Amino acid sequence: MAGLVVVAALRTEYAALVGRVPGAVVERCGMGPERVRRWLPRLSDLAPDALVVAGVAGGLDPSLRPGDVVVASEVRDERGRIVLRAASPLVAELRSMGMRVHYGPMVSCDKLVTGQQREQLAKTGALAVDMESAAIVRAMSPAHERPPVAVVRVIVDTAFTPVARLSTVVAGARALLTLRRLAPALRRWADLAGPRRVLLAGPRSFCAGVERAIDIVEQALRRYPRPVYVRRQIVHNAHVVADLQSQGAVFVDELDEVPDGTTVVFSAHGVAPAVRAEAARRNLRVVDATCPLVAKVHTEARRFLGRGDSVLLIGHNGHDETEGTLGEGNIQLVQTPEQAERVDVSDPTKVAFLTQTTLAVEEANKVVDVLRRRFPLIESPPTEDICYATTNRQDAVRAIAGDADLVLVLGSQNSSNSLRLVEVAQRSGTPAFLVDDAGGILPEWIEHSRTIGITAGASAPPHLVDEVIGMLRALGPVEVDERVVTHEDIKFTLPKEVAD
Ligand code: SF4
Repeated sequence: MAGLVVVAALRTEYAALVGRVPGAVVERCGMGPERVRRWLPRLSDLAPDALVVAGVAGGLDPSLRPGDVVVASEVRDERGRIVLRAASPLVAELRSMGMRVHYGPMVSCDKLVTGQQREQLAKTGALAVDMESAAIVRAMSPAHERPPVAVVRVIVDTAFTPVARLSTVVAGARALLTLRRLAPALRRWADLAGPRRVLLAGPRSFCAGVERAIDIVEQALRRYPRPVYVRRQIVHNAHVVADLQSQGAVFVDELDEVPDGTTVVFSAHGVAPAVRAEAARRNLRVVDATCPLVAKVHTEARRFLGRGDSVLLIGHNGHDETEGTLGEGNIQLVQTPEQAERVDVSDPTKVAFLTQTTLAVEEANKVVDVLRRRFPLIESPPTEDICYATTNRQDAVRAIAGDADLVLVLGSQNSSNSLRLVEVAQRSGTPAFLVDDAGGILPEWIEHSRTIGITAGASAPPHLVDEVIGMLRALGPVEVDERVVTHEDIKFTLPKEVAD
């Protein structure tokens, strides 16, 4: 076994890599699939533990610039596609080195492609084109036996900079310098190979309110004339937003970006009454995706305000949900126990508190304890405001964190409930990180972690968890142990504007 093998097609690529990937065998296979086929017996003799195909490539996607790095999520040729799940930690590693890195499909062709052919290939969604990767990757064993494989290419020319231009020669020299620079990262990536155990938290990922909100946007797109606008992110997740955008939804920050008479969806986090009034005045067709559990907090707010209580909201400043609830009237925001010590009310016998639905239960209780001590008659809602999904996901991550070397939480940086899951895991003494997807996982996090806890915030799609497990499986054998603390069967009905 040869350990890590790095394969380059051209002499210049080989020269950029040889001696710069510690402990690796660097090989030159020659340019084009025919030369690759003649070289393949050498690959089977080497029987690598990990394989990287590295070099330069032509850009297809218009966003690519010369010098950008493409890490292939899959390679395609006329026979089909081969998914390369092990490569994603390399994305985060190269980004952390300051490189512009794209992660997506790479296509291999039999000969150099230019002009119209490139435009045709770009329409398939491939980011870049080369001539060797697919033939090399295909020669490796079937997926379940294949060692970790990555394809890394630096862009020389793009669809807008034809191959023969002088600028392309300069870009070629720069690309080779980038290849030299990234070479040591290939070693760090290969060192991730090995067996692991995954502790899967259950429940995790989508809650009933998020499923309903996504369903509402999709139904609105089907039923109403386009464009359909969505005020704020429908739920706080970049993948969900991108997916709905690709279906035609137009996301805006405020109603003044929405033309009169069109359709607007209010996000799951709810809106202040002033926003509803503005929508009515502008004759907008409103489809309200406010989670029923957020709507319940608004109802409580109106009830407490209506009877003249001083109302305190425990929550985070600037969050969409908090902003909406505060809009119900004269409500004071209390974020910490220290603020609870200082908050001033007109009549200490007429005080009520509410809670943002996605807070950490333990942290919120610290604030509640202070308020109850200061205002013994304080009223609380008849049922807990922190929602079932938040509580269950926190219980579930607590149940795995103590036994894990590392906890990965799938979710976006602006997702309150996902951030709270990270904090709950960290309070168990385990390092925990929030990532949007497998591409956000830094190699240093998983290099020495043999037991990895995985969960996902209520706004994060379940397939993101599958992709992380798939990535770990591509790095070595994985044993998955799912720990389910409770089962959820809550479903919310759709609003009449989109119900059948
Ligand atoms: S996290 Fe809770 S409040 Fe928020 S959308 Fe999901 S169920 Fe509703």
